Amino acid sequence: MRVTILGAGTAIPRPGYSPAGLYARVGREHVVLDAGAGTLQRLARLGVSFRNVDRLFLSHFHPDHCLDLVSFLFAMRLPRPARTKPFTVYGPHGLTRLYRRLCTAFSRWIEPRSYRLRLVELHPGVVRLPGYTVRAESMYHSTEALGYRIEAGGKAVAYSGDTEPCEDLVRLGQGADLLILECSMRDERRVEGHLTPSECGQIAAEAGCRRLVLTHFYPVFRGYDIRARVRRHFRGPVTLARDFTTVAV
Ligand SMILES: [Zn+2]
Ligand SMILES: [Zn+2]
Repeated sequence: MRVTILGAGTAIPRPGYSPAGLYARVGREHVVLDAGAGTLQRLARLGVSFRNVDRLFLSHFHPDHCLDLVSFLFAMRLPRPARTKPFTVYGPHGLTRLYRRLCTAFSRWIEPRSYRLRLVELHPGVVRLPGYTVRAESMYHSTEALGYRIEAGGKAVAYSGDTEPCEDLVRLGQGADLLILECSMRDERRVEGHLTPSECGQIAAEAGCRRLVLTHFYPVFRGYDIRARVRRHFRGPVTLARDFTTVAV
């Protein structure tokens, strides 16, 4: 598997730290997790066409994680060459309602024309896909949210979406080859529903992951040693992501 962070930031604009998005090449499939604004554009920079994306997994419906769902659906309507590959979007409870509301806002401009669109509302559990599985776990955020764990060829990559520490998050990352955690706020100014560097280190240590990547940085970390705080708890390799950070597992 090969995973690229398409957006290492949040809703606050900052060069190099775009809103949340992740691209994973899993076997023959192209998978996107979360789609904040500009995800489609950054996929193009990576050389991946939106026409080839098989599945989109949304962690929750805050705009910094899902705005580009509209961009995906609009682009896929454009005729030349017409998209024919089915497109499946997964997300927590409320996905169908969100889609219906988007259709009310954008009318036919986002409705599929040449391909099959499938919307799947997930509960915690495992989705079996061609050559890999994706497990969803409930996260603890200010709205209903899921974390995802992709397993393929004996390797596991887990992604928290937005959450604060919870048992399900540790289970999600248990023994993962790569654990990708949101890291929103400083230790000294923690905010409910999000993680701090120390908490990320503790979760990584408890989960026993091989490698930790931190993402979803609010611009509160200037002059702040994130790595040192993670290190107090977790001894494995740590990467502080920027847009386009890529890790192969
Ligand atoms: Zn959120
Ligand atoms: Zn967020």
